[in-house]
Amino acid sequence: MDKLNKGNGLHFWKVYNLIASTINLSNSSDIIRRCRFCRKCESDVSFKMKAHAFPELLGANDCISYDECDKCNLLFSSYESHLSKYFLPYLSMVQVKGKKKIPAFTSRTENNEEKTRTVIKSIDGKLKFELGNRDDLVYDHENKKLSIRFRLPPFKPLHVYKALVKIGLSILPTDRLEKYRAVIDWMLGEASVSDYIPIVYITKVVNRKFAEPFAELYEANSIFEKEGFYPELTLVVNFANIVTQIFLPLSAHFDYLRSNQKSPLLEMYPASAIYNQNKEVSKYAKPNDLVKIDYRFEYADLSSAKTVIRDELIYLSYESFERSIK
Ligand SMILES: [Zn+2]
Repeated sequence: MDKLNKGNGLHFWKVYNLIASTINLSNSSDIIRRCRFCRKCESDVSFKMKAHAFPELLGANDCISYDECDKCNLLFSSYESHLSKYFLPYLSMVQVKGKKKIPAFTSRTENNEEKTRTVIKSIDGKLKFELGNRDDLVYDHENKKLSIRFRLPPFKPLHVYKALVKIGLSILPTDRLEKYRAVIDWMLGEASVSDYIPIVYITKVVNRKFAEPFAELYEANSIFEKEGFYPELTLVVNFANIVTQIFLPLSAHFDYLRSNQKSPLLEMYPASAIYNQNKEVSKYAKPNDLVKIDYRFEYADLSSAKTVIRDELIYLSYESFERSIK
């Protein structure tokens, strides 16, 4: 059994050190370009597309990867489309501007009938609902509360995990790339990596959002403890009103002999503590509602490689609500 290590979160800092961040990504285009994933150079592959270390679908940003070729970029985009479906309710409700605009939420349909599709759009800062199913939106006028059921389009959980792993590999310091070569090959579909823990921790903060998205990669100081082992790398991705955390697959250098019979210790990044202390994050987040910050925590299993459907429920308070009847 995996151990969910929640505690007060401060233990996280004893175990993990920050080794890379999208904020101070030092990438240069002056050198001969070589893809960090497939290891091919400009003479073999093209580098025409603007590859992002941090996917723009989670929020517009300037974190450009100069060492990602077009072929790898295209493959990773196919994972990212699942990531965007997974978090779409939040990107659209929190009104996070992506590459071009704030994405509209479009639900899946029932029985292939287009009229059953619900669409939620942001128009001039207001959310407009086109309901394909009356049960998708329940409102309680007396308490000014809404509950919205997001019928997510079909997605592959493992692709969501891979899209997050890719962010970590994009910012992984170059001196560690070879250590994680098997993980990269797995991402490229060229090898099987059986040693990964595809869960995601998600902290959702109420009434607050990140001004800019960013990701941070942490490395464990020591791996083995009496009660288990810490995965070598953990990635924290901050966007919209969400802090997500994953553990990257273990390296080929990982000492499996010593890990035998031991459980992974899945140390949780203290997202809520950071918010409450208003440390670090204040540079990137809007400093309102500092006193009372409400958040919800959950974790999800992203191991399925099969397409799944899922509903996400979000409860909201609202100021004004106009109902137009066609
Ligand atoms: Zn490549």
